[in-house]
Amino acid sequence: MGINELFGSMVFNDAVMREKLPASTYREFKKCCAEGKSLTLDMANTIATTMKDWAIEKGVTHFTHWFQPMTGITAEKHDSFIAPTTNGGVIMEFSGKELIKGEPDASSFPSGGLRATFEARGYTAWDPTSYAFIKDGVLCIPTAFCSYNGEALDKKTPLLRSMEAIDKQTTRLLRILGRKTEHVYPCVGPEQEYFLIDNSVFDKRKDLQYTGRTLFGAKPPKGQELDDHYFGAITPRVVKYMKDLDEELWRLGIFAKTKHNEVAPAQHELAPIFTTTNIACDHNQLTMEIMKKVAYRYGMTCLLHEKPFAGVNGSGKHNNFSLTTNFGHNLFDPGKSVEGSAQFLLFIAAMVSAVDKHQDLLRLCVATAGNDNRLGASEAPPAIISMYLGDELTGILQAVADGRTYSKRAKCNVEIGVHVLPKFAMDTADRNRTSPFAFTGNKFEFRMPGSSQSIAGINIVLNTIVADEIQGIADILEKAEDKNKAITEIIAKTMKEHGRIIFNGNNYSDEWVAEAEKRGLLNLKSTVDALPRLSSDENIALFGRQKVLSETEVRSRTEILIEEYCKLENIEAMTMLDMAKKEILPAVSKYTKHLAETALELRDLGIKTTTQAKQAQKLASLYEAGFEDVQALEKVVTEAHILGMDLKAARYYRDSVVPAMARLRATCDECEMNVAEKYWPFPTYGEILYSVRD
Ligand code: ADP
Ligand code: MG
Repeated sequence: MGINELFGSMVFNDAVMREKLPASTYREFKKCCAEGKSLTLDMANTIATTMKDWAIEKGVTHFTHWFQPMTGITAEKHDSFIAPTTNGGVIMEFSGKELIKGEPDASSFPSGGLRATFEARGYTAWDPTSYAFIKDGVLCIPTAFCSYNGEALDKKTPLLRSMEAIDKQTTRLLRILGRKTEHVYPCVGPEQEYFLIDNSVFDKRKDLQYTGRTLFGAKPPKGQELDDHYFGAITPRVVKYMKDLDEELWRLGIFAKTKHNEVAPAQHELAPIFTTTNIACDHNQLTMEIMKKVAYRYGMTCLLHEKPFAGVNGSGKHNNFSLTTNFGHNLFDPGKSVEGSAQFLLFIAAMVSAVDKHQDLLRLCVATAGNDNRLGASEAPPAIISMYLGDELTGILQAVADGRTYSKRAKCNVEIGVHVLPKFAMDTADRNRTSPFAFTGNKFEFRMPGSSQSIAGINIVLNTIVADEIQGIADILEKAEDKNKAITEIIAKTMKEHGRIIFNGNNYSDEWVAEAEKRGLLNLKSTVDALPRLSSDENIALFGRQKVLSETEVRSRTEILIEEYCKLENIEAMTMLDMAKKEILPAVSKYTKHLAETALELRDLGIKTTTQAKQAQKLASLYEAGFEDVQALEKVVTEAHILGMDLKAARYYRDSVVPAMARLRATCDECEMNVAEKYWPFPTYGEILYSVRD
C-alpha cells in the first residue's frame, strides 16, 4: 500500500464522510460542527449506520467510546455491534444513540470527591470534532466524559471548553483590529521523547515493571558523557521499530514526521506535524499507546517515564503552541507583510503577561511525581517559569514601550497596518535550549511537560490564561479611540509590569536561580508546593470566568492530582522495599558469605591475607546499613498510610518518604558497586541502557 492510501486508512475522516454520507447529512454535519450545535437523532442514526458499514468492511466487530479520564491515559470498553434476530441469529447494528452517548460505570475512575456528592454514573458524549478511528479491530469513538450533573470527569471536556474560550476572545480581538477572522484555533505539536530497552532486562526489574523507572542503579562506566547518541546512527532494530511505528500512526491519520536518537543512550524522539489542540491531544495519547505496543513486537519495552534512570537525561514532551485563524494565519508569525506587525507584538505582549501572571498554573500543570525527578536537574529547565524571546524581539518590545528607536531603524511607533519590525534573524531566536518557555520564531515551545503526561492539562492552562489575557486587551481596545496609541500603551505596561518574566540567558545556571528570586519569580520546587495552588481564589475565579472549570471541578481536580502524587510515591516506596528485602539484601548476604568462607579457607591453608575478611566486613556493614534504611522507610511508609492521601499526606511523602527512599537507594547502589556481578539480582544500568544493540 502506498503512503497515500495508507495515511488515514483507519480513520472515518472528512474524505470518508464526504464520500459515504448522503450529501445533505454531510452538509448538516459540517454545519453543526462549525457552529457547535448538537446533531438531530436522524442525522446521528445516518452517520452511525454509515460509520458501522465502513468499519465492518474493514473487519471490525466492536465499537467503543474512547475517552480520557483523570488517570491521564485513555479508557475504552468494547461492545459488539451484534443484535439478536427473532430467528436466533444476529445482525450488526449501531444506532445514532449509541454513537452520541454511552454510559460507562464511572465509579472506578478518579473523581476527586465528585462521586461522593453526586451520582456515581457518568456518561460519554461523542466529540465530533475528533474523527472516529479503528484500533485493533475496534471502532473507537472519541468522547468527552461527564457526570450526570454535567461536571467534567475527564481531561477532554475542559480542553474543548478552553479552546472555545481562546477562540472567542482572540476572534473578538482580531475583529476589533479590523480583521474578518471567524475562528481562531490553538494548535500544538508535541515532541515525544522515549526510551527503548530490551524485554530481557525489563522482565528482570520490578521497579521498571511497577513504576516505569529504575529505583536503584549505580552509575554505569559509560553514560551520555561522550554525546555520541544524540542524532547518532539508529540501530537496525530501532530503524525497523520506527518504520513500523510511523506506519501504524499514519494509518490512524497521525502526522508522525521527525524521528531521531536523543541525548541519552537508548533515548529517542518522535515529533508529529502540529495540528488543532484536541486532535493533537488525542493523537499524542494514541502515539504513546502505539509506541509501547509496537515495541513489544520487536522484543522491546518503550519507557515513557520522565526519569527512567538517575544521572541520565530524562524524557520531556515539548508542547509547541500557536494560534491559527480560520484563514490559516499563525498569529505568532512576525510575517513579512506590512500588515499585522503591531498585531504580532500585541500577541507577544499578551503571552508575556499571561505567562508572568500565571506562573503558578504553568508550573503546576507539569507537576507530577515523575517530573519532580527531572525539573531542575541539569538536563531540564528548572522549576522556575521564565520566558525566552531572544534579544532582538525583547529589544523591539522594549523600544516600543519606551518610545525609543530600535537599533538604527526608525522610531518604533506601532501602528496597525504599518510594518515596524526590523527583519530579525529568526535563527538567533531558535538557539536557546534551556528556557522553559521559548519563542522559537513563530510558536512558543513549553519544555517543562514530562514525557508521560497527557497534554490536555497543559493546554487547558495555556488556552485559559491566554484567553483571559486577550479578553482584557480586547476590553481596552474596544473602548479605545486611538487604537494605535492604546496598543503602544498595552505593550509599555506589559514590559513594565511583566517584563521580569523574560530571560534570555542560561536557565540551567545557579546565577539564574538567584536572579529569578531577585525578580520575585515563583520557585515552586516540588509537585506538592505547586498543586495546592490550583484551588487558589484567583485560579478558581479565572477558570470560572473563562467557563473552563467550575469551582467544584477545580477543587475535585486538585484532590485527584494530590491523591495521584501520594499513590505514585507509595507504589515507588513499596517497590523499593520489596526489591531491597527480597533481592538486594539477600544478594549482599550471599556474597558476604562467599567472601567469609573464602577468608576461612585461605586461613586454613595457611595463606596470609586479610583482604577477603575486610571486604566481608565492609559488605556486612553495608548490609546492616541497608537493613536500617529498610526499617526507616517502612516506618515512614506506615505513617504515610495512616495520613491517607490528602495534602498533609503528600507533604509527608515529600518530606519523609522520598528522602528515606533516597537513603535506601544510596546504600543499595553502594552495595551494587561492591558485589560481584554474578551475585547481583537484576540487570545494572549498563546492561539496561545498552540492551538494544541490533
Ligand atoms: P525542535 O526539536 O528544533 O524543537 P522539532 O522539529 O523536533 O524541532 O519539533 C518542532 C515541533 O513543533 C513539531 O512537532 C512541529 O510540528 C511543531 N510546530 C511547528 N510549527 C508549529 C506551529 N506553528 N504551531 C505549533 N507547533 C508547531
Ligand atoms: Mg523542540
